[in-house]
Amino acid sequence: MARFIFITGGVVSSLGKGLASAALGALLQARGYTVRLRKLDPYLNVDPGTMSPFEHGEVFVTDDGAETDLDLGHYERFTGVAARMSDSISSGRVYSTVLEKERRGDYLGKTIQVIPHVTNEIKDFISIGEDEVDFMLCEIGGTVGDIEGLPFFEAIRQFAQDKPRGQCIFMHLTLLPYLAASGELKTKPTQHSVKELRSIGLAPDILVCRSEHPIPEREREKIGLFCNVRKDAVIAAYDLKSIYEAPLAYHAQGLDQAVLDAFGISPAPAPNLSVWHDVADRIHNPEGEVRVAIVGKYTQLEDAYKSIAEALTHGGMANRVKVRIDWVDAELFDREDAAPYLEGFHAILVPGGFGERGTEGKIKAAQFAREKGVPYLGICLGMQMAVIEAARNVAGLPTAGSEEFDHESGSRRFEPVVYHLKEWVQGNQTVARKADDAKGGTMRLGAYDANLRDGSKVAEIYGTSVIEERHRHRYEVDTKYREQLEAKGLCFTGMSPDGKLPEIVEWKDHPWFIGVQFHPELKSKPFAPHPLFADFVRAAVENSRLV
Ligand code: GLN
Repeated sequence: MARFIFITGGVVSSLGKGLASAALGALLQARGYTVRLRKLDPYLNVDPGTMSPFEHGEVFVTDDGAETDLDLGHYERFTGVAARMSDSISSGRVYSTVLEKERRGDYLGKTIQVIPHVTNEIKDFISIGEDEVDFMLCEIGGTVGDIEGLPFFEAIRQFAQDKPRGQCIFMHLTLLPYLAASGELKTKPTQHSVKELRSIGLAPDILVCRSEHPIPEREREKIGLFCNVRKDAVIAAYDLKSIYEAPLAYHAQGLDQAVLDAFGISPAPAPNLSVWHDVADRIHNPEGEVRVAIVGKYTQLEDAYKSIAEALTHGGMANRVKVRIDWVDAELFDREDAAPYLEGFHAILVPGGFGERGTEGKIKAAQFAREKGVPYLGICLGMQMAVIEAARNVAGLPTAGSEEFDHESGSRRFEPVVYHLKEWVQGNQTVARKADDAKGGTMRLGAYDANLRDGSKVAEIYGTSVIEERHRHRYEVDTKYREQLEAKGLCFTGMSPDGKLPEIVEWKDHPWFIGVQFHPELKSKPFAPHPLFADFVRAAVENSRLV
């Protein structure tokens, strides 16, 4: 039976709860334990799948096809444990399940209430798979005191009460603001935040305090005293140059020891942190730098492409170089020459996206990369744009485009080389979709196999002929144009096992030009960089030697 660690936040949002949870997961693994991490989000969307990346950052997709919070990406990158649908839940999902049950008559005529019906649903969710791991880490989104978070806080209070003593602990993240005028770190907001927690029946065992300045021993004692937390369990979390230093930094501050102490685990198994030392060494001692342009739409918000930025960093680590990312807004050159915006980069990446805005710029970025021999990685929409570029400028189809844009504008303007996917095979079932289906959860989502063509660049990079990658798309490159495009050199080197859906395209006579319909970034880890990203960065390094 798992031990449970509940992670909450107070004072302000964006304190790095997800990162602290992920780093703690990694530290427990380093001590030989198995872990699973889970996110409970209080917002009312059923999942983040329908939210704009501006609202919520990237949507992280699991193997089993759930559209989840980007924190699940952190969890995977730090622990290597593949997240599942059952690791992410929101108020919206909880309420829709409760209301479905109510409509079915499952509650046998009872009045449905937040306590116990909603809280029971949350508790059931928390305990899924509790026999599978040593530690289950559950992070509650938002901050203590948020109205919508209350059912979650109440549920974890009850959950800990239902379990034998010592099986659940609470870790709370806060901020110690620094007042420059008096030169002091202030502990009052932390005290208030803990008071707020205690008023709903939760007493933290561990306090993680974010601070830009060193926390003097005296302040640590004071926080412990006023918040009723042992001094050793008041952990400092300082700003880091790289998120991948977090496991070592938290270990140095005694976080994992404090957690094991709180559970009364003694003697604690010694940690083996060699993986994280190697990761830190690669981050801190690069032997060069390459510049990569990410040509996208949501460039003001880096969280929108979180996993891509991380996967590029991992690719850099594999090659012992620093990858400098420049975010280039594709809309800037929708109607003008792309060259002034793209010259000087060692590689170009066009990420996934939705809707027509900015796509003409992305098509020009693909053209620039193809013509100038610059390494190009197109992901999802970035692959579709590369195919449209090839169709328009090489294969003699000047009106080539995607049905997605015609659907959006309600007019027929393009020859659809990328069409709306109506049917595909999942396992041994056929999945069907219509253009006017509801939007939530209806894309081709999650892990699917692809077969790679012998002798292709991708087969060489992956070192295998069958791969499994995660997907999230509604539109697909039409094989109708395959022969025409291949005759010109754009080869379809990865296909779905039934041979119907193009998964990868690559230009034959180009140093490195690959488009993939899936999202390889979701599976990359600092200690196991994804082969496509590792090789893309290698190609960028090679290109940097030419310029
Ligand atoms: N909008 C495109 C589609 O639905 C691409 C999706 C993506 O890039 N994730 O197919």
